[in-house]
Amino acid sequence: MSKLSIRDLDVSGKSVLMRVDFNVPLNDAGEITDDTRIVAALPSIKHLLDGGAKLSLCSHLGRPKGEPDPKFSLRPAAVRLGELLGKEVAFADDCVAAADQRAALAEGDVILLENTRFHVGEKKNDPEFAKALTGDAEVFVNDAFGTAHRAHGSTEGVTHYVSQSAMGFLIERELEFLCEKLESPESPFLVIMGGAKVSDKIEVITALLEKADTFIIGGAMAYTFSKAQGYDVGSSLVEEDKLDLALDILRLAKEKNTRFLLPVDHCVSQEFKDGVETRNVTVEDGIEDGWMGLDIGSASIETFVAEALNAKTIVWNGPMGVFEMASYEAGTKSLALAVAKSDALSIVGGGDSVTAVKKYGLGEDVSFISTGGGASLELLEGKELPGVAALSES
Ligand code: AMP
Repeated sequence: MSKLSIRDLDVSGKSVLMRVDFNVPLNDAGEITDDTRIVAALPSIKHLLDGGAKLSLCSHLGRPKGEPDPKFSLRPAAVRLGELLGKEVAFADDCVAAADQRAALAEGDVILLENTRFHVGEKKNDPEFAKALTGDAEVFVNDAFGTAHRAHGSTEGVTHYVSQSAMGFLIERELEFLCEKLESPESPFLVIMGGAKVSDKIEVITALLEKADTFIIGGAMAYTFSKAQGYDVGSSLVEEDKLDLALDILRLAKEKNTRFLLPVDHCVSQEFKDGVETRNVTVEDGIEDGWMGLDIGSASIETFVAEALNAKTIVWNGPMGVFEMASYEAGTKSLALAVAKSDALSIVGGGDSVTAVKKYGLGEDVSFISTGGGASLELLEGKELPGVAALSES
């Protein structure tokens, strides 16, 4: 790994700015409903504080419109962080007008700066904004993986105004699993892709076709492939403008000698609703008009589970069906159980497959759960993330 890590830094007595991901869900009363992201940042925060840093933390929260909006204040996160650290966490009402408060920090003190997206300069990566956000910091640490694929003021801009910039433990681990370990994956390497749309995942599918031995496609995106192959899909979700692309992907898989497994049957119903009549129909028989596929069928489940149990490396992104409803969760749940049970190096990447793995209590049984949506996909596509590329070389 060529980028400087938080482990390589000597921060004693230095002013350090760290970008964290405190984009936590808040309820209407402004209370944090899930503090996972704050807890996840603790190792990097404690490491810097134990090392004697004067630490300023910055983050975005939600989607304010480039101006202060109390709905998106990070103040509750400062309170929660204080509870978790068991020490006082100062708070600055404006991320770029906090010079006095930051100058007053002693070694081992920490301040959380207000939402960076309260300024238009954050998303525009405006140099003036980035310079002001850097303030007196000599060292920058980026530990916000979920936004590392964006060149914003707090992820890329600030690196130009410090003498050293490094990745935190969270980003380091994401790179370890999504890049290093997949450089020469142990065979059989199985990729499982699902979710709503092919269009979101074209690039990652194309990139992973180069490396995978076997590909499994489930979820709604399977219907675009089925339709492209001439099967009836009824009123299932299809991207009509991606039918040619689906055929291109199938051709590419053949060219690369990658086994490309589509569902052979589907669980269908007449309504996008839980608890209504469902049927299992084969792809060959097709889905009648008025019916839609909402999960993979029982024969597909059997095949896909066997593939997962046999694999030595698994990357999984996207559910096999509408797992949020009990009637259509069998595919996703069975796959999640199989991925957890398999002795493969298993990487669950981004979004809804992570939700699924957690829903079935399997979070501890997979090798790695990636925390980024877009950032995870971009890494799997083999792209460099701007928030990582800008860090100092080690
Ligand atoms: P994505 O964000 O692209 O990973 O898509 C995840 C969403 O796709 C989940 O909310 C699923 O409910 C949905 N989904 C999966 N399979 C289907 C399907 N067959 N029909 C409609 N939606 C689906």
